[in-house]
Amino acid sequence: MDFEYTPEEQSFREEVRTFLKDNLPAPKERGPQFLKDWLTKVREKRWVGFSWPVEVGGGGGGLIEQSILKEEMALAKAPPLGTDMMGLAWVGPGIIQYGTEEQKQRFIPYILDSEGTFCTGYSEPNYGSDLASIQTKAVLTGDHYVVNGQKTWTTLAPWADWIILLTRTDFDVAVKHEGITCLLVDMKSDGVDVRPIENMAGDKHFAEIFFTDVKVPVNQRLGEEGKGWAVTVSALANERSSIGEVTQMFGKLDTLKELVKHTRKAGKPAREDPLVRRKLARFEAQIAAMKYNGLRYLTKQLNDEPLSSETSVNKLHRASLEIEMDDFAMELNGQAGLELNGGAHAIEGGKWTKAALNWPNVVIGGGTPNIQRNIIAERILGLPKDGSD
Ligand SMILES: Cc1cc2nc3c(=O)[nH]c(=O)nc-3n(C[C@H](O)[C@H](O)[C@H](O)COP(=O)(O)OP(=O)(O)OC[C@H]3O[C@@H](n4cnc5c(N)ncnc54)[C@H](O)[C@@H]3O)c2cc1C
Repeated sequence: MDFEYTPEEQSFREEVRTFLKDNLPAPKERGPQFLKDWLTKVREKRWVGFSWPVEVGGGGGGLIEQSILKEEMALAKAPPLGTDMMGLAWVGPGIIQYGTEEQKQRFIPYILDSEGTFCTGYSEPNYGSDLASIQTKAVLTGDHYVVNGQKTWTTLAPWADWIILLTRTDFDVAVKHEGITCLLVDMKSDGVDVRPIENMAGDKHFAEIFFTDVKVPVNQRLGEEGKGWAVTVSALANERSSIGEVTQMFGKLDTLKELVKHTRKAGKPAREDPLVRRKLARFEAQIAAMKYNGLRYLTKQLNDEPLSSETSVNKLHRASLEIEMDDFAMELNGQAGLELNGGAHAIEGGKWTKAALNWPNVVIGGGTPNIQRNIIAERILGLPKDGSD
């Protein structure tokens, strides 16, 4: 593997750094208009959907430049390049790969211009890991599907405008992965009932959703009827790869180092403590390992091979690493770590406490660690499914 950047790639890195210097004020100096202006500027640069085809409004950029862009943005702690996180990470790529021309014209600019947000309706009360067994039913009636069923744990559902929804159109199938159909559903449709769920940090970021006779026009079906599993597998690989974004972990490590700088342990600056230093060095090494693993995916993509099972490696690794980092921050915070949301002694507004309580986001969201281990064992290492040889 060649780790050197070409002169063109290095000059792109300089361009990003200059842009950030000129357009990213310190957090305290950002006024109410800042985010709107930021989104317009990065869109004008065609940095939103950086590697998406130019024909659909993307930047048409290369994957190496995209990784440089993400790295520089994360190091500068810049806001995201768009507000539709799921749209940019996996719904948009899914539409580019499986959508009709009409769907591309309709949804891609919508995602790129941050006009609204998508959420992801896969899991059901009895089917999370065993996703292919979903029961939400869609029946084709004339020019639309009629959907009935329930989804749960749907992140962002309380605010989302659209949902990428996994339904079953055929119950009489030899293999459960068949007969699944993916629909793009307007959350304002009649019969969609969103009931927020409060998590242990007191946030209502996700919800259960009930669908009762919801009409979905047939032109909002993504991919062929009954072939929705392929759309999902590719979206999940993208989800796992974006969850595994190493650049965010470098950003998190920087913040942790800042916390160490401002903390005292046993009467001395925490940064002088050999155990603290060893922990930070270990995190750094683990993130570097994720980075080189991520570069392997990138090489695969550069060779026009689609991402699949290998993204589970970083997803699994990130889950345990985030927990370790949050626990370490809580240890440094001492008793103040018990305070949440601006309590009198809360450190940085209780942000580390909140992160520690939000561990299910990175650990369970997008598939549990055991499921990632199964994928790695069976699909990457080629081990038998039932443990026999
Ligand atoms: C914070 C958060 C956000 C989420 N956001 C979304 C979202 O936006 N959209 C969405 O559709 N879903 C979302 N989910 C749901 C998530 O994808 C599921 O919770 C997850 O896939 C696990 O499914 P489950 O909850 O049904 O647990 P189960 O599948 O019942 O698993 C329970 C336990 O059994 C283990 N297990 C299950 N099957 C196996 C197996 N074959 N081998 C070994 N161990 C196994 C699991 O690892 C786990 O430990 C979210 C979940 C959380 C916690």
